[in-house]
Amino acid sequence: ATEWTVPLLVDWIRTYADDVAAAADDLTALDSAIGDADHGSNMKRGFAAAVTALDEKPPATCADVLKTTGMSLVSHVGGASGPLYGTFFLRLGAAAGTETTVDATTFGAGLHAALDGVRARGKAEVGDKTLIDALTPAVEAYDAALAKAADPSDDALVDAIAEATKAAAIGRDSTTPLQARRGRASYLGERSVGHQDPGATSMALLFAAAEQVTR
Ligand code: ADP
Ligand code: MG
Ligand code: MG
Repeated sequence: ATEWTVPLLVDWIRTYADDVAAAADDLTALDSAIGDADHGSNMKRGFAAAVTALDEKPPATCADVLKTTGMSLVSHVGGASGPLYGTFFLRLGAAAGTETTVDATTFGAGLHAALDGVRARGKAEVGDKTLIDALTPAVEAYDAALAKAADPSDDALVDAIAEATKAAAIGRDSTTPLQARRGRASYLGERSVGHQDPGATSMALLFAAAEQVTR
């Protein structure tokens, strides 16, 4: 795809809802090592609620898809991940505006707004062993790929999302040796070292789902 459309964004949310449902046990296993063993069920419940909301009231604009998703996460997930992923989608939706398409440049601006919002809400920086460790390099890689693209209208969106997905996976892996400084895992102190962060894992999956649907 050369740009996001309303059906494509819905497809992203549906695909990711399926992916987190399939990965729920794995995400919860990661969270049982350094948290309270609910990240899989939180993500599964939140995104199932988003899919239900999108089915009940078919979205007219790109902003509708993303804001409905964000609101569903905020209202159905009590854990840290609900407001954080909720903020991500609400900010992305605000950047999408009232159009029925979102091009590569606008999506990039939305990713920046989303990252800023999640950082403001959670107060985590890169290296704190959170989903920020996957999201930040993903946004940077997206920018770099888009800046290199000869013609932003061509395959720029697909290429930039593919680069973002690779960077998110590397960022996810980078969390393993870190000591957590935010969220529940931080309560463990040094005992959080040696475990992959659950939220960074689900964030890497979010980009992988975007890559899958836009390809
Ligand atoms: P909870 O910790 O409330 O049970 P989840 O288990 O659903 O919520 O989500 C845990 C994930 O949320 C962590 O693995 C981490 O990536 C992310 N997280 C927690 N606190 C923060 C924060 N302050 N900033 C960014 N991400 C955070
Ligand atoms: Mg948890
Ligand atoms: Mg919890």
